[in-house]
Amino acid sequence: MAEKIKCLIIGSGPAGYTAAIYAARANLYPVLYQGIQPGGQLTTTTDVENFPGYPEGISGPDMMIDLQKQSERFGTDIRNGWITKVDFSNGLKLWADNHELECESVIISTGASAKYLGLESEKKYLELGGGVSACAVCDGFFYKNQDVVIVGGGDSACEEAHYLSKLCKKVIMLVRKDNFRASKIMQERVQKTNNIQILFNTSAVEIKGDGQVVTSVLTKNNITGELNEIPATGFFVAIGHKPNTDVFKPFLEMDETGYIINKPGSTKTNIQGVFVSGDAADHTYRQAITAAGTGCMAALDAEKYLASKEN
Ligand code: NDP
Repeated sequence: MAEKIKCLIIGSGPAGYTAAIYAARANLYPVLYQGIQPGGQLTTTTDVENFPGYPEGISGPDMMIDLQKQSERFGTDIRNGWITKVDFSNGLKLWADNHELECESVIISTGASAKYLGLESEKKYLELGGGVSACAVCDGFFYKNQDVVIVGGGDSACEEAHYLSKLCKKVIMLVRKDNFRASKIMQERVQKTNNIQILFNTSAVEIKGDGQVVTSVLTKNNITGELNEIPATGFFVAIGHKPNTDVFKPFLEMDETGYIINKPGSTKTNIQGVFVSGDAADHTYRQAITAAGTGCMAALDAEKYLASKEN
């Protein structure tokens, strides 16, 4: 038999926990499924220095523990697990593995994940923890005074390359076209940094290693087809993010990347009773504080929706 839930929250980043704090305090008895990465993207960050209220900064994982504790304090039912199936065709039915949930309202806070190139060798060394990363701020420290390669030509790649340049001996940036996508100011910053070398029209085709750790990156010039092997111990990928929304695709309106479309000025989706907060709907700001803000909005929208149903 399906479990009846008044307010289901999916995801445990700043958006999900903030929604939980507000929903619990409004007596919506929220149940929160933490998802595949409890705590979300901030658990892979070191210091968070731009979240208001922490004058000395706080580590990402510590902040997520605090947010979890705060949402538990008001009675949120936090569960380990994730939503594997959804049916919004007749009511709001969801499944956490085989456990069926029948919900009166749903807040989606599933966030986004870093994209990878999809190379076999990239996957191999990522899984081995041997030199492939999508987060310079999290892992740059391990490559102190070493040579690293970073892929991407957007603001993230420039920001991460600049961050790495302060730790590493040399940073080689691979940009697949003959131009950056990044803003002018970010482009100039990397161009002016002595130990960043930019290779335009260049793609990574294979990550080479000794079976444990990365030792070099095989690159291809996209104009001439010329191959080149660059010695490096770290391979960073900064080619954007993908929202974790696949499971909702048959029912919710999304843009071509998979970001859920919310009604302007609210967290409402095209399905009544389903609300979205955080990076699952935001490709512009993508900050912990904006995610928390929309988490609060989603809980308030859910509260209002549930109250209107009762009247
Ligand atoms: P973007 O989508 O802006 O850029 C992605 C970059 O990766 C592009 O250069 C793209 O190349 C490249 N790329 C994509 N797929 C591949 C691939 N398979 N192989 C090689 N290269 C690939 O993502 P970002 O994460 O950089 O930025 C996302 C948003 O966040 C943007 O709006 C950005 O402005 C913002 N942001 C702002 C920051 C700031 O202002 N401080 C910092 C970080 C992000 P191509 O151009 O050829 O498609």
